[in-house]
Amino acid sequence: MVDIVLKSILPNYCAGCSNPIPHSFIVCERCESKMNGPLFSSSSYPHIDQAYAFWRYETPMSEILRQYKFFGRHRISKYLAKVVFRTIYEVALDMTLPVVPVPTTTDALRRRGFDPNRLILRHLSKMIDFTVLDALVSTGSRRQQSLLRMDERKKNVKGSFLCRKKTLPEKVILFDDVVTTGATASECAKMLKASGVVNVVLISVARSAV
Ligand SMILES: [Zn+2]
Repeated sequence: MVDIVLKSILPNYCAGCSNPIPHSFIVCERCESKMNGPLFSSSSYPHIDQAYAFWRYETPMSEILRQYKFFGRHRISKYLAKVVFRTIYEVALDMTLPVVPVPTTTDALRRRGFDPNRLILRHLSKMIDFTVLDALVSTGSRRQQSLLRMDERKKNVKGSFLCRKKTLPEKVILFDDVVTTGATASECAKMLKASGVVNVVLISVARSAV
């Protein structure tokens, strides 16, 4: 009830450009029209065999993700789950494969109060059946990747994930919301392959040009 009253009083803003939009929207039509994914590449990231992303990590998507991850606008997860679903559908990704989320560090979890990847996957699971495979754990407290120079990121994530499953399927889907240098995803894929995975398909909401 309080929520309904607040909605009628408080304006709603586009997560991409901050222009006012109706309450049922998360992103305005103008921002939507700028993003026309998905993107595909046979991967240029080490240890990853194929990589799909919905859009480039640039405005408006970079702002949408920033609002989601750093300003706690959880509702954006629904929008992001839809673009992941659209990517899966467009590239006909085999969703009988288990999905391994890139784990959040304990520090980031404490700072944000939620796990961005898991929340997106939770909404995605309402649209399509798939299995989440908790194969990776984050070790220690590496520094926040987004605060580091590109050349520091690879070093920062080295050895910062462990695989906690003894046996893994031959092929898995690795999910991370954003891929910039690919250092985090590559390190995760390396750990998965060291534990028996042969083929890693990476899917993300956005990626930087590589
Ligand atoms: Zn907008």
